[in-house]
Amino acid sequence: MLWEETFGFQLEKFLRKEQFIFHAPMREHTTFKIGGEADLLIFPSSAEEVSRVFKLVELFSLPCVILGNGSNVLVRDKGIRGVVVKFTEKFFGGMRCEGQRLIACAGAKLKDVATFAAENGLSGLEFACGIPGSIGGAIFMNAGAYDGEMKNTVASVKAVNRDGELVEFSGSALDLHYRHSIFQENGYAICEVELILQRGNVEDIKNKMVDFTERRESKQPLDLPSAGSTFKRPKGHFAGTLIDKAGLKGLRIGGAMVSEKHAGFVVNTGNATAQDVLALIEEVKRRVCEAHGVTLSPEVRIIGEE
Ligand SMILES: Cc1cc2nc3c(=O)[nH]c(=O)nc-3n(C[C@H](O)[C@H](O)[C@H](O)COP(=O)(O)OP(=O)(O)OC[C@H]3O[C@@H](n4cnc5c(N)ncnc54)[C@H](O)[C@@H]3O)c2cc1C
Repeated sequence: MLWEETFGFQLEKFLRKEQFIFHAPMREHTTFKIGGEADLLIFPSSAEEVSRVFKLVELFSLPCVILGNGSNVLVRDKGIRGVVVKFTEKFFGGMRCEGQRLIACAGAKLKDVATFAAENGLSGLEFACGIPGSIGGAIFMNAGAYDGEMKNTVASVKAVNRDGELVEFSGSALDLHYRHSIFQENGYAICEVELILQRGNVEDIKNKMVDFTERRESKQPLDLPSAGSTFKRPKGHFAGTLIDKAGLKGLRIGGAMVSEKHAGFVVNTGNATAQDVLALIEEVKRRVCEAHGVTLSPEVRIIGEE
């Protein structure tokens, strides 16, 4: 494509060669291990770099998608046109403690942040130890499990808007509720997250994390690639229970299957395409609606060229 050479030339001025890949297969960058190529995948290492990338994207009038660890997305088979900005542990993953405050860069893995909190005797993030996302993605989704959600811990967030400006939000300004944050509307890139946690006993915190991990391992199909819960929790129900009661465990389309272990998860049995997963999602929705009169909506975010 015409723009790639000029865009690459501009990137070389402020990024290292290992920080961008043209024609990147997204199955290598998502936990579902599904998805066609992104035209250009960029791994920024600072808010300043994110800002420069956004300004270039604007200049070249390119579409631009943000990703964290890719654990809540399904990338379509045709891939993603334009630019993907991915926050990774390697390039954007630092964290530090200041008293009861924990400050983490957006690419830090949530489970590492939870472990770091535990080691520093800070409680409140135990619920997050088994969620395989980045902390930026966890804020974006207001990730939650068991007795907790990100909403209860966030003091402030620094983000870069699409004009390349750094903006700071207090936790209460983020409109965090069930799987929602304002970033789903404004498209800003979350760069740094400040959490406020409670003082606790290191052993107690670690024991709670072990308990949550055991519960997760016994119930979830962690041996197969997935994007976690496929559907949001419908009011007054659990998606997994509705799907199970409709007799859909083990239902397959191509390489995509409703997990036999937990009906709330669609898993990739090895060679699933995005088309397989999308068709299975539609079939599950149709049958659950038929059986229970409840309309499911995906929690997994579906991105890429249709
Ligand atoms: C086995 C398994 C178990 C899971 N269990 C849970 C669970 O218990 N609870 C739960 O809530 N979720 C769970 N998930 C889903 C997922 O891990 C969470 O939604 C997580 O918060 C997503 O983070 P991520 O970094 O992977 O985001 P991605 O999947 O990369 O992105 C998700 C969305 O966030 C946006 N985003 C990501 N990073 C940023 C950023 N820095 N700035 C702006 N936008 C950004 C993306 O644009 C995208 O729309 C599970 C997933 C798996 C595979």
